[in-house]
Amino acid sequence: VDGADGPDDGWRPVGIDISTPSIARVYDAVLGGKDNYPVDRAIAEASLAIVAEIGDVARYNRAILGRAVRFMAEQGIRQFLDLGSGLPTVQNTHQVAQAHSPEARVVYVDKDPIVLAHGRALLAENENTTVVTADLREPAEILNHPDVRALIDFDQPVGLMLVGVVHHLNDDEGPERIVEEYKAALPAGSFLFLTHFCASSPDAVALEKALLTDLGSGRFRTLEEITAYFDGFESVDPGVVFLPQWRPEEPVQEPLTVGQRLMAGGIARKVT
Ligand code: SAM
Repeated sequence: VDGADGPDDGWRPVGIDISTPSIARVYDAVLGGKDNYPVDRAIAEASLAIVAEIGDVARYNRAILGRAVRFMAEQGIRQFLDLGSGLPTVQNTHQVAQAHSPEARVVYVDKDPIVLAHGRALLAENENTTVVTADLREPAEILNHPDVRALIDFDQPVGLMLVGVVHHLNDDEGPERIVEEYKAALPAGSFLFLTHFCASSPDAVALEKALLTDLGSGRFRTLEEITAYFDGFESVDPGVVFLPQWRPEEPVQEPLTVGQRLMAGGIARKVT
């Protein structure tokens, strides 16, 4: 394959299907990465035509991930289960967590084998971090997976991360039940950090339609629906908000743009 069609180094991991778009690679394309192929870039470009700020949206999501992981580390969290972690990019969870406490342990889980292929290289010398290839729609399998159990002690507080991924669960897959199963496995003192596409504008609705057609997933839910994923946990200020509004490091100008309202998220704590 000509190098111009994919990553610059022309390298193809065995077992990677480049004829069908992959969520991880489309997201990489939107972020300006190089681990993507023409089928992925076509979806990134179609999304850009609907929401011109789509690259910024992905960056808001990476930025809140950094702020939220740091927040959880400051609250004493030393183990993170990052479900639907995506391809390695900037401010990866283990880098943020281990910058705060080098002993922090991180398990990345993604269904896309390309994440493991790229994660391996990044993590070769990090014994506190691992990548597991599994489908988060099977909570019992993930919660009992030996590689998960090797790093995560479910008797100690966990930072459970579902960042930019629950919107890839369609309604008939029971996203609420799936999130509840993970929440139930956590001890008191754990946190849930979740971000999600938000049905906040006509452009958001148009993008949902395009993604559901071209990619097969990408549900834009309301702020109320997103907030409901945290039910039973104690909300951490400022609650579920549009991403740039969550504990910003710099003042945020209101009103927010369409792109700034395209995703919402927050953190909540399990009390008992
Ligand atoms: N969490 C990262 C972030 O927010 O920057 C990556 C988000 S990316 C948009 C979504 C990731 O979730 C992709 O890498 C995709 O492969 C993964 N994913 C989607 N459905 C999944 C499932 N059922 N089980 C595990 N991973 C899944």
